[in-house]
Amino acid sequence: MSGVTVVGGGLIGLATALRLADRGHAVTLMDPSPASGATHHAGGMLAPVAEVVYRQEALFPLMLRSAELYPGLIAVVEKHTGLPTGYRTDGTLVVAADRADSAHLGELSDYQSTHGMEVERLPLRQARKLEPALSPQLAGAVHIPGDHQVNPRMFAAAMLDALNNLGVAVVREKAAQLPRDGQVVLANGLGAAALHDGLRLRPVYGDILRLGVPDHLAPLLTRVVRGFVADRPVYLIPRTDGTLAVGATSREDDRPVPRTGAVHDLLRDAIRLVPGVEECDFLEATTGARPGTPDDLPYLGRVSGNLIISTGYFRHGILLTALAADVTLALVEGDDPGIDLSACAPHRHQEF
Ligand SMILES: Cc1cc2nc3c(=O)[nH]c(=O)nc-3n(C[C@H](O)[C@H](O)[C@H](O)COP(=O)(O)OP(=O)(O)OC[C@H]3O[C@@H](n4cnc5c(N)ncnc54)[C@H](O)[C@@H]3O)c2cc1C
Repeated sequence: MSGVTVVGGGLIGLATALRLADRGHAVTLMDPSPASGATHHAGGMLAPVAEVVYRQEALFPLMLRSAELYPGLIAVVEKHTGLPTGYRTDGTLVVAADRADSAHLGELSDYQSTHGMEVERLPLRQARKLEPALSPQLAGAVHIPGDHQVNPRMFAAAMLDALNNLGVAVVREKAAQLPRDGQVVLANGLGAAALHDGLRLRPVYGDILRLGVPDHLAPLLTRVVRGFVADRPVYLIPRTDGTLAVGATSREDDRPVPRTGAVHDLLRDAIRLVPGVEECDFLEATTGARPGTPDDLPYLGRVSGNLIISTGYFRHGILLTALAADVTLALVEGDDPGIDLSACAPHRHQEF
């Protein structure tokens, strides 16, 4: 087995290192502070259906394939650690605050259905049977059974423990240049552009909140609730540790700290959908930087004899972790990755 250095220990690098080490490769992981990037802030929704973006058809097969691969990735993690991952398969409800939001939700679910995705319109009464904390004043609901979740911070800690148990060398240093020996996987999120020419990455900031659900309300929700409020998207994610994540904004204003207005909007919209949020404890507001590319598709593929690029996962990096790790394992071993990666070619934005 060959030696492989994985640069970057966000969820993408951690899962890649894990799949490689599980197969017997000698792996070194480099990161000055693993899981401190976008991974630390992410919601953790595995949502190939609810996250569908109009006119982003090239993403759909990648997202759906990754969702299929997730149970296998979880099994590899659980083989090497007893730590929890926060993986939950309870499904997702998407709700609409008013009639205009309901029309939007209807169009979106028609679009999802025509692309073969499983979505089910629900009468509000039934949605509130599933989640009694939902406001009685909503205008529409859709159930998406195939959209699941992990807790990214727990998942990353579990993977680090698994890597440790597998004897992977975790070097807590920043790579100042590309390592020269063996095969190299560049999986350091936004940092990849500094180590390889031609990658065009930009930070897309997202504010996200963490709330504590008081005992007398717990569990406030049992599955992910997403919604539209006056056309603004918001989501609420119940964690296995009893907390609730509320997210997320999307802004490109180079201000990497939580914005007061963003915190206000998220809380107001979350309370509109689930009034009990008003009684929760406010634990944290943070801002993460999603690694975006010009066309919002990842950079994934081999670019030279010893270099594989795996970055640019933008809004979907937690979901796409299973695919990224699977594809990279195949590329390292010289196998067919089993999926068309032409839309992800790492040099597609390079100017010659
Ligand atoms: C608010 C928010 C909510 C999100 N919600 C979701 C969601 O619900 N579902 C979903 O699928 N995605 C979500 N995302 C997107 C997801 O978080 C990212 O796509 C994903 O975390 C990218 O993972 P990564 O490992 O590529 O990068 P990162 O997590 O950013 O990790 C990069 C790592 O590389 C390291 N590094 C950088 N430079 C170097 C270097 N030179 N040498 C060594 N190491 C280096 C850093 O220390 C860091 O640990 C969300 C993002 C945000 C901000």
